[in-house]
Amino acid sequence: MLGLGSWCLANAGVSLATPAQGRTATPAAMPRLTRAHGVINLSRVETDRPQVALTFDDGPHPQHTPRLLDILAEHRVRATFYVIGSLVHRYPAIVQRIVAEGHELGNHTWAHPTLSRHGDHRILSEIDRTQEIIWQTTGHLPVTFRPPYGAITPRQSRMLHASRNLPTVVWSVDPQDWRRPGPAVVAQRMLQGAGPGAIILAHDIHAATVAAVPEALNGLYRRGLDCVTLSELIGWGRWGPEAPYRHRIAGAGSRRTG
Ligand SMILES: [Zn+2]
Repeated sequence: MLGLGSWCLANAGVSLATPAQGRTATPAAMPRLTRAHGVINLSRVETDRPQVALTFDDGPHPQHTPRLLDILAEHRVRATFYVIGSLVHRYPAIVQRIVAEGHELGNHTWAHPTLSRHGDHRILSEIDRTQEIIWQTTGHLPVTFRPPYGAITPRQSRMLHASRNLPTVVWSVDPQDWRRPGPAVVAQRMLQGAGPGAIILAHDIHAATVAAVPEALNGLYRRGLDCVTLSELIGWGRWGPEAPYRHRIAGAGSRRTG
């Protein structure tokens, strides 16, 4: 963790510089996110609402992601997927299914580099290429970004916010599922520290993580915690096919945003 903190999100909102029209296989030119919100980075959301965000990184995976989507559908739960751009290019149908089923997409770079070792040019090219493939594939744009390994400097995070209006989102709960401790341990760790505003990290590229999800969801239910997407946790409203950019619009005037 590199000094990323929580932020007051009371006035957070996202809007677009141009109307979002792309809901077809050939979407319009990619819109730009505007600078209408003040969220630069966060690891959890300050809230009293009994909500957490389940986030899944490093996919899509050809087998594990569809299985996870089945489980989330059975439990009527929405999650946020921080996808890798090169894998979106490889598995477009899975990414389209993620969106069609009401989940949120976040930007997790094109090739998963350790960004803190790279310059701004590389960072922006990783981000832009991934935004573009997600836009072309789904007609929707991620509104948050997660750095691989959580490795980004505060300066880089501010640069990204200033130039692309993308908040850096890390996590407050890390089950270390990539160490493959087994589903029971992963589920137990996902529950540890899960309280209002928690952002729970997991990876949908491991079978054991997907196997842990039902038990984790049941545990969250028992604690009275609802699972929402990252945008919902922040208070921006739904990210999805029905209202892809229906976040609080600041200074958008009479402009329609799809
Ligand atoms: Zn990752």
